[in-house]
Amino acid sequence: MSSAAKTPRAVDVLRRDRDAVIRLGVLGWPVAHSRSPAMHTAALAHLGLDGWTYQRLPVPPELFAQTVQALPAAGFVGANVTIPHKLAALHLADTATSTARAIGAANTLSFSSGGQIHADNTDAPGFLAALPWPVAGRTALVLGAGGSARAIVWALKDAGAADVAVWNRTPARAEHLAQELSVRAVTQAPRADLLVNCTSVGLTTTGETFKELPLSADAVEDFSCLVDLVYRDGDTALITAARERGVAVVDGLEILVRQGALSLEAWTGVPAPIDALRDGARGTTPH
Ligand code: NAP
Repeated sequence: MSSAAKTPRAVDVLRRDRDAVIRLGVLGWPVAHSRSPAMHTAALAHLGLDGWTYQRLPVPPELFAQTVQALPAAGFVGANVTIPHKLAALHLADTATSTARAIGAANTLSFSSGGQIHADNTDAPGFLAALPWPVAGRTALVLGAGGSARAIVWALKDAGAADVAVWNRTPARAEHLAQELSVRAVTQAPRADLLVNCTSVGLTTTGETFKELPLSADAVEDFSCLVDLVYRDGDTALITAARERGVAVVDGLEILVRQGALSLEAWTGVPAPIDALRDGARGTTPH
């Protein structure tokens, strides 16, 4: 028997100890809107991990480091990290994956029993897993130059996209990102296979979307697939425009599900139940 086979997986050990509470959570500020608790709670129930819990962890930036350092002793084995803590999460970790280091941000922390903090970034592979086809050799237009755009542009480049164009409301930020990741900044929207919205346009209201972005609703037809990272109750204006024109769509909740699945696998060591995560995120878990 190999040494790997002799090593019990965390999930097997923890399943045996029915009294232990194993804690997971999402660190953010604010975090009240997050669908991650509902999504992961549904998946943990589906896996029969009764002693595991997943909770919101609203933490202001000035308390982030000390809160994270206290989590392992409080029974936490891992946490997701969202706005505005993704950079800080990478910086305070003891170890990090090459993906997290290359992107410069972490959305997933895992804690060892000795209190060591390990950082990963599942935003990039989660995004790639949500796409209807491999991006190698394809072209993409990314809207936005903030934290999520950085992870998406890195993922597209790493997966072998043939051309990645970045547009941003503040052009200097697009130029900076393009230079750092060896892609090109644009001030108008070129045609491409893939359109990815990494701006927060459409988050609170759908009315202004096409005034704030460099393309019209009709121009969405120029793309084979739209990914809109924004998630809200109901479709965003971009998603509606794409659906009406027969363009394949991946919405923000599916992106959330895919990154969450990879985080859950890192913590439990077992394959994530995608449908249960999806039902939890969309509020359609059967009772
Ligand atoms: P961020 O770092 O704050 O970046 C925000 C981006 O949106 C910037 O490029 C900003 O442009 C642009 N923007 C904001 N208001 C705009 C407007 N009125 N018109 C045009 N552009 C505007 O945020 P982020 O972390 O990248 O997140 C972006 C969005 O993705 C958020 O809505 C977030 O909720 C969503 N998201 C979803 C997931 C998921 O799992 N589905 C994951 C991550 C993020 P400037 O540079 O000009 O300010």
